[in-house]
Amino acid sequence: MTVEKFVTALGLTVSVYCINHGSLALAIQWPDSDRCYTVWVDPVANYYGNTVDFSGVPVPDALLVTHGHGDHLDTTLAASALRAGASCIGSPDVCEHFPEATLLRHGKSLTLTEGITVTAVPAYNHTPGHTRFHPKSREDNGYVIDIAGFKIYVAGDTEDIPEMKNLAGTIDLAFLPVNQPYTMTIPQAVNAAKMIAPKVLMPYHLTDTDLTALRSALEAALPKTEVRIVSEFR
Ligand code: ZN
Ligand code: ZN
Repeated sequence: MTVEKFVTALGLTVSVYCINHGSLALAIQWPDSDRCYTVWVDPVANYYGNTVDFSGVPVPDALLVTHGHGDHLDTTLAASALRAGASCIGSPDVCEHFPEATLLRHGKSLTLTEGITVTAVPAYNHTPGHTRFHPKSREDNGYVIDIAGFKIYVAGDTEDIPEMKNLAGTIDLAFLPVNQPYTMTIPQAVNAAKMIAPKVLMPYHLTDTDLTALRSALEAALPKTEVRIVSEFR
């Protein structure tokens, strides 16, 4: 499993575990102490018949779930994480399928632990023929995770929506979904990335997207953004 490491301005280490498709984990370690905190985003253990290997991923303190689709919400896994002491935060759709989750609505923030907050932001389809997948009215979540000033945006299943402009220039690491027909086309991903202008961009939720074409398009349009593509996110 690919693990990408980042060190924040305050010296915290953020290890990004690229688990599968839309599943990732952030293991956060403070400098000069054994303090650590782990967030799993949209963890799914059984992805359309394939068992996903979570061994080697640190156990979660919190789960963030964007919406109720089977490639994002795994209620069996979430229930066992809760039994082990983790919290689970979700959108209205998540709470409907998994009532034990804590509801976080768009624009609301929650402190996960001292120094780490999470804010819910909108995620939805807006083009004709696609809106039934992630209707705006369902209020699915994306998340901005603020780790002592280092900001990670996990977009969830969304297209290039105007709300992304609110994040312009504030994001250190962005995860943007690129697959059809459920999320973004390559040109939409380019448009979204231009709105956000993250320092580092990791496309995810990739399915059969042409990764060579994706990299070329992103790098041509965003010379200041570092693009990291890992195959686990197919
Ligand atoms: Zn979805
Ligand atoms: Zn999805």
